[in-house]
Amino acid sequence: MEFVDLCRELANSDGHAMSRAVLKIADSYRTKHQQPKMPVIWLETNDSGDNNISFMNTAYPYLGQVFANMIDLLYSNTFMAAQGREALEVLYRAAEQYADQFTLVVEGAIPLKDNGIYNVIAVTDTKPITAREAVTWLGSRARYVVAIGTCASFGGPSAARPNLTGSVGVQSVLQRPVINVSGCPVNPDWFVGTLAHLLLYGVPDLDERGRPTMFYQFTIHRHCQRRSYFDRNQFARELGDIECMFSLGCVGPRTFADCPYRLWVNHVSWPVKANTPCIGCTNPDFPDGSTPFFSPLPQKSTEPAPSTLPTGKGE
Ligand code: SF4
Repeated sequence: MEFVDLCRELANSDGHAMSRAVLKIADSYRTKHQQPKMPVIWLETNDSGDNNISFMNTAYPYLGQVFANMIDLLYSNTFMAAQGREALEVLYRAAEQYADQFTLVVEGAIPLKDNGIYNVIAVTDTKPITAREAVTWLGSRARYVVAIGTCASFGGPSAARPNLTGSVGVQSVLQRPVINVSGCPVNPDWFVGTLAHLLLYGVPDLDERGRPTMFYQFTIHRHCQRRSYFDRNQFARELGDIECMFSLGCVGPRTFADCPYRLWVNHVSWPVKANTPCIGCTNPDFPDGSTPFFSPLPQKSTEPAPSTLPTGKGE
C-alpha cells in the first residue's frame, strides 16, 4: 500500500517525481533483500509492435535503467539479437532454468482459428510452434503473467471485426490469473510501474478486468481538463474547439485510465490536450466499441445507445 500511496501522492507533482522515485525504491529494496532482478520472458504475438516501442520510451526510469536494475530480459523476439534455432534454444533454456520464477510478458492477441496457425513464434525441424502453444506452455511455468497492450489484454484491434484469425486476449487461453496492462499502446509508466510492483510487493490490486487499479481506477472523464465544459453542456462543434469533445466521439466517460494527469510522450501531452477525443484504447471492447471514432457515443457501432447522456455526477 505504501508504494501505491506514494504513486498517487507523487503522480501529479512537478517534474514527475513519482517516476523518478520508482527506480530508487526498487534498487534499495533489491539491495536490502538481496533480490536478483526479475527474470522476464517476452513473447510478441498478434499486434503491431507498438507496445515495445512505447516501453522503449520509458523515462524515469529510462530503458537502460530498467534493464540494468529491474528486469533480466531472458528472451524477446523483438529485443534479442539471436534468431532462428539459437533464439529458440535460448527460450527453452530460460523456461527450464527459471521455471516458476520468470514473469511471462505477452504482447499481442492469440489467434485460435485453424489451430492457431495465424501466429507462429518459431519453426522447428518438424513443426511450427503457434503463439497459442507457446503461451499455454510458458503460462503454466511462469510466476506471473502480464498482458501488455489491449490486444494481449482483451483481443484489441487484432480481434476487431471481422476477426479473421479468431484472436483473443491471453486470459481466454490461460486458466490462471493474468495482469492486464491495457492500452493501444500501453503508457510506459503503466507497464514499468506494474513490473516494479511485482518486483517489490507482488501482484498489485486489480480491477474486475485484471488491470492494476493504481493506473486504471478512474475514468478519463473524471480528471479531464475539459470537464468543466461538459458539466456546463458546452460541446465542441469541430476539432480545435476548446470545449468538451463528447460531441465529437470522446469516450472518456466510459474509459478507465490516468492519461489526463500522467500524460504521454515523456509526460508532455495526451489526446484531449492535443485536441483529439479519447478513443477508449484501454477498453475491453476497443476498437469496435469506439468506432466510428469521431461520432458521438449514441452512434458507436457496438454499444447500445445510452438513453441519456452521462450526467457527469459522481464520475
Ligand atoms: S467527454 Fe471527453 S473531452 Fe469531454 S470532459 Fe469527458 S473526457 Fe474530457
